[in-house]
Amino acid sequence: MPTIAENLHHIQKRIDAACKRAGRDPASVQLVAVSKKKPEALIVEAYQAGQRCFGENYAQELRDKAKALAGYDIDWHFIGRLQKNKAKYVAPVAAMAETIDSPDTALALAAKLPAGAPALPCLIEVNIGGEGSKSGVPLESVLPLARELIAMERIALKGLMTIPPFQDDPEQSRPFFRELRVMSDRLGKELGLAAPLQELSMGMSHDFEIAIEESATIVRVGTAIFGERT
Ligand SMILES: *Cc1c(COP(=O)(O)O)cnc(C)c1O
Repeated sequence: MPTIAENLHHIQKRIDAACKRAGRDPASVQLVAVSKKKPEALIVEAYQAGQRCFGENYAQELRDKAKALAGYDIDWHFIGRLQKNKAKYVAPVAAMAETIDSPDTALALAAKLPAGAPALPCLIEVNIGGEGSKSGVPLESVLPLARELIAMERIALKGLMTIPPFQDDPEQSRPFFRELRVMSDRLGKELGLAAPLQELSMGMSHDFEIAIEESATIVRVGTAIFGERT
């Protein structure tokens, strides 16, 4: 079995190659190592190989890992479904909350930020395929939600995130990624922001290269780094 360091190295090579195909700078793509359900020892292994950004789906698991690994210089991204009553576990430790789907979740997080902490970087999760089983807001709700979020003092809206419908062939994800990019461009214009919302979090183990070709700035990769989850 390849080591985590080898997996990370291999993924970085694939990120670099996808950037090259798309005429992009590899530094414009951030790799989030999705460590949900994986033990802290594996996070440390990835850290020692140079990885600094990790993604977690479960609020208490994030809190526990952030506490256990407080001595490490880790940026934690919360990427799971967030219940308001669990915001207290996420807000104090997250560098970014990627799954905002209502004004209420954002307000719950903002209320649990430590005093004096900067505004929390957030992404709106978009249910791009309109699947009943998926969280996130439908495309038509993105603009009104974004308007509410940018009015919140302790929330810093940075962009959009999505998980497209699962496809065996990752090429089939491309139109969904493209649609999110188009939405992001539209949002920047309609909100009349001085700076565009630059973050597009899209692409997982089986389709991150396609996502990068379609302008992803954050890719969330779990299995291809840490192995299958049981
Ligand atoms: C689990 C998860 C990932 C990582 O998925 P892999 O297929 O293991 O790479 C990425 N994003 C979200 C939101 C997830 O829940």
